[in-house]
Amino acid sequence: MNVLVLGSGGREHAITWALRKSPSVDVLYVAPGNGGTGDIAENVPDLDMMDAAAVLAFVQERHIGLVVVGPEAPLVAGVADALRETGVPVFGPNADGAQLEGSKAYSKQFMLDNDIPTAAYAVFDNEADALAYVRQQGAPIVIKADGLAAGKGVVVAEELEDAEEAVRECFAGAFGAAGSTVVIEECMTGPECSLLSFVTAGTSHPMVAAQDHKRAFDGDAGPNTGGMGVYSPVPIVSEQEMAAMEDIMARAAAATAREPFGLDYRGTLYGGFMLTPEGPKIVEFNARFGDPETQVVLPQLESDLTQIMLAVAEGRPEDIDLRWTDDWVVCVVLASEGYPGSYEKGKVILGIEEAEDLDGVVVFHAGTVRNADGELLTAGGRVLNVVAHGKTFEEARNLAYEACDLINFEGKQYRHDIGRKAAEYLGC
Ligand code: ATP
Repeated sequence: MNVLVLGSGGREHAITWALRKSPSVDVLYVAPGNGGTGDIAENVPDLDMMDAAAVLAFVQERHIGLVVVGPEAPLVAGVADALRETGVPVFGPNADGAQLEGSKAYSKQFMLDNDIPTAAYAVFDNEADALAYVRQQGAPIVIKADGLAAGKGVVVAEELEDAEEAVRECFAGAFGAAGSTVVIEECMTGPECSLLSFVTAGTSHPMVAAQDHKRAFDGDAGPNTGGMGVYSPVPIVSEQEMAAMEDIMARAAAATAREPFGLDYRGTLYGGFMLTPEGPKIVEFNARFGDPETQVVLPQLESDLTQIMLAVAEGRPEDIDLRWTDDWVVCVVLASEGYPGSYEKGKVILGIEEAEDLDGVVVFHAGTVRNADGELLTAGGRVLNVVAHGKTFEEARNLAYEACDLINFEGKQYRHDIGRKAAEYLGC
């Protein structure tokens, strides 16, 4: 079977790497792909993943038997719907299912209607009412632009003035149409972690928990980023909390298939959790694999990802067979100097082969590209995901950092404390 993956990040490289292991895959395409996916699959740099007609034409021409949609934007734009209408198996929800990520107001209504624990909230489409509500509730309080804003549309305001400012900015158009509706939430407290689940035909098939590091610098300092590193499993999650998280994902999956939602959701549902003193609550749902969570979750999967994705895409939950290793996996993101602000591109990357020669290390590319001479160059803010397995957390973390030292490009920037919470908990 020929398979097409849409996307170009570390997540798509990890998905492609896991699909590549499957004996049922013949030709594997990635559109547009990156410098790493091009080594294990055929990149299609000129195929615009937002152009449903162009993707469909490619699918028909290359006899694609499964399309895997990586990022949220094509899902929200309805690319999966257009493909599915022609009978092509697609891993990734339709546009209505992707609203669980694409609209925070929709997502909160879904949670409220289905008794899914989350922060109390209110939704506003005008500034005056939103400001009045904020003043009445007081700080701390959380202000969110309703639509997709690449992680930048959320302000956790400790002071009332900051909350008021965030409301004004949203309505002044700081996030374009994404901010014309504003969701205001109660501020929850507790550590965060993610649980991703394969969802199809109203059933949930949970993966392993992971903990991301959003801030740019050590000690959770600096601005928010797309994610600077991640590890899995997460030892601070108790068995009871894990069971509660799995139950929440199962209830969410069941609700997708029921009226009034009736979503026929077929893809990954990402549960972003906060472990509050009252138990795990949902911070957000995403309608796709997380980046960088995927880079530590899929290396733990022993079963065949292609068969799982096909079963999800075709609505055959009985055929989803999930088996996991008992390894620990740590991922450190190597970024360009200046990220998440402005940064330079085109720096030569050296040392990946040496890093991958270490037993238990794999490097997933994000912002990389190969030039005509075959040199690998930086081409984005997050450049590489250095992923290491170990029998213990300590082994995996030390190996990941050993590998990071072997890779070089000008301006290499990374966090040195990935997994700090796990290390403190485990005493290593
Ligand atoms: P991303 O795309 O980066 O995952 P997002 O824009 O979809 O983020 P959320 O995940 O909803 O936004 O929020 C971003 C972060 O803000 C969360 O990871 C969490 O740290 C914080 N946050 C969001 N909602 C709350 C809340 N109700 N209480 C406390 N913190 C919150």
